[in-house]
Amino acid sequence: MSAPVVEVTDAPQSAATPAGATLREGAFGPARCLACRECGAEVELGPQYACPECFGPLEVAYEFGTVTREEIEAGPRNIWRYKSLLPVPTDIESSPNTEPGFTRLLKADNLAAELGLSSLWVKDDSTNPTNSFKDRVVACALSAAREFGSTVFACPSTGNLANAVAAAGARAGMKTVVFIPSNLEKPKQVNSAVYTDSLVAVDGNYDDVNRLASEIAGEEDGWAFVNVNVRPYYAEGSKTLGYEIAEQLGWRLPDQIVIPVASGSQLTKVDKAFRELIALGLVEDKEYRVFGAQATGCSPVSVAYKAGTDVVRPVKPDTIAKSLAIGNPADAVYVLDVCKRTNGAVEDVTDDEIREGILLLARNEGIFTETAGGTTTAVLKKLVETGQLDTELETVIINTGMGLKTLDAVADRVGPAATIEPTYAAFSATGI
Ligand SMILES: *Cc1c(COP(=O)(O)O)cnc(C)c1O
Ligand SMILES: [Zn+2]
Repeated sequence: MSAPVVEVTDAPQSAATPAGATLREGAFGPARCLACRECGAEVELGPQYACPECFGPLEVAYEFGTVTREEIEAGPRNIWRYKSLLPVPTDIESSPNTEPGFTRLLKADNLAAELGLSSLWVKDDSTNPTNSFKDRVVACALSAAREFGSTVFACPSTGNLANAVAAAGARAGMKTVVFIPSNLEKPKQVNSAVYTDSLVAVDGNYDDVNRLASEIAGEEDGWAFVNVNVRPYYAEGSKTLGYEIAEQLGWRLPDQIVIPVASGSQLTKVDKAFRELIALGLVEDKEYRVFGAQATGCSPVSVAYKAGTDVVRPVKPDTIAKSLAIGNPADAVYVLDVCKRTNGAVEDVTDDEIREGILLLARNEGIFTETAGGTTTAVLKKLVETGQLDTELETVIINTGMGLKTLDAVADRVGPAATIEPTYAAFSATGI
C-alpha cells in the first residue's frame, strides 16, 4: 500500500526539492515541525534550513509517542533502532543505506589509570562503515533527500563527511558530488574517490568550500547538500551517539563527556539526546557535564569560552586536525550554551599534544584514532591536569574517526625499533 502524498506549500523551498515535488505523509516520523533556534518560529517540515522570520538556524522539533527500552532493544543493531526518535519514516530500514551505528563502547581502564581517572569509556565511532561518526548524520540526510526527491546528493567537507556522503550516495544509487579543500590528506581523498567520480578539490579552506556549496545550492535545482540545505535533518543523526552511550551504559547517562568540536553540531545533539532520554523517562534524570575539544590552531569556540564571551570570532585554521578545521563554526554559540549550562568547559590542545593524544589512546587501549580523536584524548588529559574534570566521576570520550586516514600525523614518531638480518643473533643483539 503506498502512502498518501501531501503537497508542500507555505514556507520557501530550497534547492533540495525539485519544483512540484511532494512529500509522503509520515516522511519524517515523530518530527512535528522545524523550529528556529533563535526566535522559536515554527515552519512546516520541508527542505528549509533558515528561519523565514530571522534567518536563524532551523532545528527539528518532535512530538514523541510512547517509546520503551524494550522496543529499542528489539530493533536492528544500527542507528535505526532509534527510528522512533529520529526524523525518518517508519519504513526507513527498507531503503538502501550504509546502516551505521551501534559502535562499541569500550571500558578504558589502562588510559583511566594513566590519567588518574576512576572510570573511563571510549565510544569508538571509527568502526562505522566509512570509519567516522559522519555515517550517522549522512544516513539521516539521505533519508530526507530521498523524501524531498532530490536528484543530487552532495556536501562541502573537511574529509570524513565526503567519505560518508560518497559511500551512502553510491549505495542509494544517487548522483553524488563531494567538495573538499585541495590540501586534504591523501587517504581521505582516495576514500571518497573510490565511491564517486565527482570529487571536487577546491583551492581554499573549508570555509571557502562551504561558501561555494551554498552558492551552488542557490543556483542548481534538486541538489541536497547534506550539511547546508538538508542540515536540520542531517544534524539529528548525531543524537544516536547519545542514545547509544546511554543504552550501552545500561540505560543511564555518564557524569562527564568529552566531544570534539568542528561545526559544533555533534556536541549540541548529544546533549539534545540526553535531554530527550530524560524527558521520555528512558534514563534517570541526573546532572551531566559536557566538554568540547578543539585544536589550538582552530579554536574559535575555546577562545570565546576562555574569554567568557558569546562573541565567537572566525579564525583561519592552521592545524593537523583537518577534520576539525572549521574556522567559522555554525553551532559555536550553541556549544557555548551547552558547556556552560552543564558546568562543562571548552579546551584546546596544540598539534604536538594531538600527536601525543593519538599515541596515548593507541598504546593504552589499542585504538588507532585520527587527529580529531587525538585532540579529544589530549583535551581529556589537559582537563584532568588543570582540574577542570572531576577524576572521581564516570567519564566518556568520543573517538569520532580512524587513524589510518591521517597516518602522516604520527608516521615520523613511530616505526621499526630495529631493522635486522634474519638471524637469532641479530635479534638478540637488539635487546628487545
Ligand atoms: C566532522 C567531524 C567532527 C566534528 O563534527 P561537528 O558536528 O561538525 O562538530 C569530529 N570528528 C571527526 C572525525 C569529524 O569528521
Ligand atoms: Zn527565527
